[in-house]
Amino acid sequence: MKKIIVAIDGYSSCGKSTLAKALAGRLGYAYVDSGAMYRAATLYLLRHGIGIGEEDAVEAALDDIHIRFERNPSGNRTLLNGEDVEEQIRSMEVSAVVSEVSAISPVRRAMVRQQQNMGKHKGIVMDGRDIGTVVFPDAELKIFLTAAKEIRVARRYRELKAKGIDISLGEVEENLAHRDLIDSTRDDSPLRQAEDAVVLDNSHLTPEQQLDQALQLVHDIAGATT
Ligand code: C5P
Repeated sequence: MKKIIVAIDGYSSCGKSTLAKALAGRLGYAYVDSGAMYRAATLYLLRHGIGIGEEDAVEAALDDIHIRFERNPSGNRTLLNGEDVEEQIRSMEVSAVVSEVSAISPVRRAMVRQQQNMGKHKGIVMDGRDIGTVVFPDAELKIFLTAAKEIRVARRYRELKAKGIDISLGEVEENLAHRDLIDSTRDDSPLRQAEDAVVLDNSHLTPEQQLDQALQLVHDIAGATT
């Protein structure tokens, strides 16, 4: 089967990374969590006390932010300047401001450049907010994943609780609503469904069912272009 690019976009906590990871595993493709890159950049700014409004300082800092991914027995790890920050980037401190950081154009330019490089040889599944619209507008398969809001909140709450993070359902709901609003209304690369994206609502699908549907889409496209 010909190697393709699969772009998966959607609102926060609708299961994008679960699907993207499983799909990449089944296809033998690379998986890139673009949100982890924005989270790692945010962590860097927080650690260095660089305010989101300090445009010049943020832009200058971008040269010192090097993000890569590694797989080890505990899964996909995000490395910021060589340090494994996989846990830290999922904290509420980072979640609270990541959307503000992601709305900064120089930040987006730097991340998109790296993401496009990662997809040069195809055979990649990338999830995020602007993958099908900006990063890979020519991706062979674009999936716009959706799920009912209450389901997304409940999933995220369970995920954070399982990690031992002390948080209320209301706080999770507030954070998702906050990020969705900023992500879909920012001037630069707002979250929106690409015109040629396939919409997949997984509100009532198991992870296996959504994977089967996505695999079918890949086979329809990649199989047809061999
Ligand atoms: O995917 P995740 O929820 O971890 O992403 C964290 C944040 O990173 C999003 O809320 C969004 O603000 C930003 N993001 C983005 N563009 C992407 C991926 C993530 O702006 N392609």
